[in-house]
Amino acid sequence: MAVPAQRVRRLTEHPTKPDGRWVLYWMTSFRRTRFNFALDRAIEHAKALKKPLVVLEALRVGYPDANDRLHTFILQGMAENARRFAQTPVLYFPYVEETKGDGAGLLEALAAEACVVVGDDWPCYFVPHMQAAAAKRLDVRFEVVDSNGLWPMHATDRVFTTAHSFRAHLQKTLTPHLFELPNDAPLTGLELPHAKLPSSLTSRWSRAAKDLLEAKPAAIAALPIDHSVPPGKMKGGSAVGEARLSLFVSKKLGDYPVARNEPEEDGTSALSPWLHFGHVSAHHVFAEVARKEKWTPDVLGRSIGGSKEGWWKMSPAAEAFLDELITWRELAFNMAALRPDDYGTLETLPAFAKATHAKHAKDPRPHLYSLEQLEHSQTHDELWNATQRQMVRDGWFHNYLRMLWGKKILEWSPSAKDALERMERLMNKYSLDGRDPCSYSGYLWVLGRYDRAWGPERPIFGSVRYMSSTNTAKKISVKRYLETYRA
Ligand SMILES: Cc1cc2nc3c(=O)[nH]c(=O)nc-3n(C[C@H](O)[C@H](O)[C@H](O)COP(=O)(O)OP(=O)(O)OC[C@H]3O[C@@H](n4cnc5c(N)ncnc54)[C@H](O)[C@@H]3O)c2cc1C
Repeated sequence: MAVPAQRVRRLTEHPTKPDGRWVLYWMTSFRRTRFNFALDRAIEHAKALKKPLVVLEALRVGYPDANDRLHTFILQGMAENARRFAQTPVLYFPYVEETKGDGAGLLEALAAEACVVVGDDWPCYFVPHMQAAAAKRLDVRFEVVDSNGLWPMHATDRVFTTAHSFRAHLQKTLTPHLFELPNDAPLTGLELPHAKLPSSLTSRWSRAAKDLLEAKPAAIAALPIDHSVPPGKMKGGSAVGEARLSLFVSKKLGDYPVARNEPEEDGTSALSPWLHFGHVSAHHVFAEVARKEKWTPDVLGRSIGGSKEGWWKMSPAAEAFLDELITWRELAFNMAALRPDDYGTLETLPAFAKATHAKHAKDPRPHLYSLEQLEHSQTHDELWNATQRQMVRDGWFHNYLRMLWGKKILEWSPSAKDALERMERLMNKYSLDGRDPCSYSGYLWVLGRYDRAWGPERPIFGSVRYMSSTNTAKKISVKRYLETYRA
């Protein structure tokens, strides 16, 4: 099946060059070889033009927050991609910058010989800016393809402000897209001419060394990045992410509605790091859930008006999980794609939240902590300190505790704006799944986005939803958690 036109956006108006030597896929966000519309699109071009396909997956050292943890996860993914592209006609070129600026010019050099360049349409962090800047330097057709979620980000120009309205919209419009899946095995039996890169190019930019691709600590230690954040608990790459997906669907999905609120249970998918780096696709996750539930899209009936239950006609557990994976995750992508200039700012808050933050801006704040105190878990609140320690040690923490973590940062910061900046700073540095549309929707949810006004009006929070560690510890079990993440 051809990649749906709604998922393709052109970033240059230059024509395709049929005399080029290859089709170039510049892989930046969907770092995988399956369930990837951008890879499918690049293969489509290569087949139509009867040209080889070159895939460039590059890792710079100069991006914000480059550290051992993020690098290791990405490199483990690159090693897996190298294994998966081997024995196929695709020329996979993993490039790892070893000195800041060394990678400059590589994309242009590969694009200069390309018939067309395909990229990943991901709406967050520095990626859209990097692609826009690259587009100015390319003189060939450059298009980006949306393989983020089940619903194409540009299928509407409406920005949704509540999960309910977004869900209602999906219930009306998503069904046709469920028949348009990316290829689950695009490399199997693929026939294309083989490419060889000229030595003028490989002598200047060489393929990543084996030690780097294996994320050997000594190789990473030699890179000019922040070495203060060691690798996290999770290992990067599609194979590990897919194994986690199978485990979750086969053993944990059934208990999700209850276990998902218990940080001691390992009851959620914990797939967010692999989803974030594109090692696992949301389409793949959906397909596995559907397979487990023996489900096909033709069972879907008419819209049910935004209700959570009964949409998919799957088990309650699967419905609860898909509501997070599809409604909440793609709501975040909707905001990031359609408000590219301010999706991560207080501007996106509803009127009630803006007004209440303004009204309570000067409220006394009995506990004010600096960013450094927060970073080093130096607050009076042991549960909060434990969540921060989990983020710093593991590179991931649980949704329920993320909500509490954010609410306390609001309470302990000089302003809502400072709270937002601190959440972003800490997560960007430590959390494997940070720097994502879901990161920003999470921080801004803490501050009132996608929520309603709550009573009673309280100091600092005003009418924004309040959470306390004492109540959290009554609702969920945290004894073992506190022991695991004590100082
Ligand atoms: C303050 C705060 C910060 C957050 N930061 C991030 C972040 O940096 N990156 C991130 O991916 N998510 C973030 N979230 C959303 C949510 O906490 C995580 O997606 C979830 O905890 C990841 O764990 P999981 O993969 O086990 O989720 P599961 O419960 O297994 O859900 C499956 C997937 O659905 C998506 N999802 C689940 N919950 C949400 C949600 N509330 N909003 C949007 N998507 C969701 C994620 O992609 C997740 O991997 C944040 C939430 C808050 C309150």
